[in-house]
Amino acid sequence: MGMFDWFYAEVSCPICGNRVKDFQTKDLDSLLDRYQPGDHVHDDRLKKINVYGECIHRKELEKIEEGMVFIQNFGVWIEINIPVVDGEIARDQNTWEMFPLKEIDFGSLSFIPDDMTNEEVVLSIVRYNDARKRDINVTEALKKARGE
Ligand SMILES: [Zn+2]
Repeated sequence: MGMFDWFYAEVSCPICGNRVKDFQTKDLDSLLDRYQPGDHVHDDRLKKINVYGECIHRKELEKIEEGMVFIQNFGVWIEINIPVVDGEIARDQNTWEMFPLKEIDFGSLSFIPDDMTNEEVVLSIVRYNDARKRDINVTEALKKARGE
């Protein structure tokens, strides 16, 4: 089952400023290996890798039932081309090429851990949203990023 590899870096979301750390790439071995800036790649002809991740700015509870929670997530898709120089993934983020941000919106389904009540699940979503909105007006920031 060819999939992707993980890529760990600290990238500041241009919209909210939160650190996005988990990215994926399909340009390496796609064996669920873990890479980070400064790592060497096996194919020394490779000139760049494409990595992608997301920053979720808001979660909306759709429903809770029988130990499951359905959540709608709203955020941005962050995609970056990272140069590979002499087989080494570039560390300098100034050389990275970030694609224009895309808004995303998707549903997700999770199991509620046995030790959590429904009220705690709701509270965790409220806390998540509060933390994301504390310092920034997301709508304004997105307009600004698009040059509106
Ligand atoms: Zn963000």
